[in-house]
Amino acid sequence: MVRIAAFQYLDKLQQVHGDVLPWSALVSGFVFQGHSIPLIGAAGIWKPQVLDIPISITTSPSNPYGDSTGDDGLLSYRYQGSPARSYDNDGLRRAMHEARPLIYFRGFDRGQYGALWPAVIVADDPATSTFTVACEDVQLLRPDLGVTVVDEVRRRYVTRLAVDRLHQAAFRQRVLKAYRQSCSVCNLRHVQLLDAAHILPDSHEQGNPVVPNGLSLCKIHHAAFDANILGVRPDYVIEIRGDVLAEVDGPMLEHGLQAHHGGKLLVPRAAAEHPDRERLELRWQEFRRAS
Ligand SMILES: [Zn+2]
Repeated sequence: MVRIAAFQYLDKLQQVHGDVLPWSALVSGFVFQGHSIPLIGAAGIWKPQVLDIPISITTSPSNPYGDSTGDDGLLSYRYQGSPARSYDNDGLRRAMHEARPLIYFRGFDRGQYGALWPAVIVADDPATSTFTVACEDVQLLRPDLGVTVVDEVRRRYVTRLAVDRLHQAAFRQRVLKAYRQSCSVCNLRHVQLLDAAHILPDSHEQGNPVVPNGLSLCKIHHAAFDANILGVRPDYVIEIRGDVLAEVDGPMLEHGLQAHHGGKLLVPRAAAEHPDRERLELRWQEFRRAS
């Protein structure tokens, strides 16, 4: 039952913090029958005292896109620690044999983690020192805490969706940090109203979730950018589409959109994090075609 309680605790944390969870809340954990249960610890493979099988595995923030997904869409997790701590890896082997669900944490940045659960270890390959991790549908958990046998296709699909969500959360975290939590058009600083917009979409071959393919935009400017009402030239000048510029309406249109025509995009300090001009050029051509 501890695991189910842990998943419920994560649900609550996600309602408060969204997809980026603070280390402090994970390390303090929750109280279960009088015992404090931290969900994350100093070691990558974490087992709280009251359990005999680990409850979570964690990847380092220094490798935020790390622990690659294979062609099968499943995650790889490297064996942890020194030979002296081989009990950590043995713990994961037990989790695999006894089908115990775990939490997979991915470090996005110092003190900030994404999480997938329930995760299960589905393979152990000593030749490459890696475990294979899949994500399960939470509804499939049986009351006895085992995980029902599901067909491979479904498991891969669920894992792919979960990992994609994790990548998007990492992208948002990095883009917003680069732009110091403000809209690059209007400078709005309300994090809950900010998105990380893709310059080129996921489906484009250059549409990968890296900061130079991102813009920090408030909800209204994100929607306007996606709808080709607002365009960004490769020299970072903002343009509002002609027909919208000519409209007469209330203050939202006037101050929210029209006033930004001809303005300059606010970009991060570090040149390496600036929006990529080549990608902007491609996106700008699409805006022009819509004009
Ligand atoms: Zn804005």
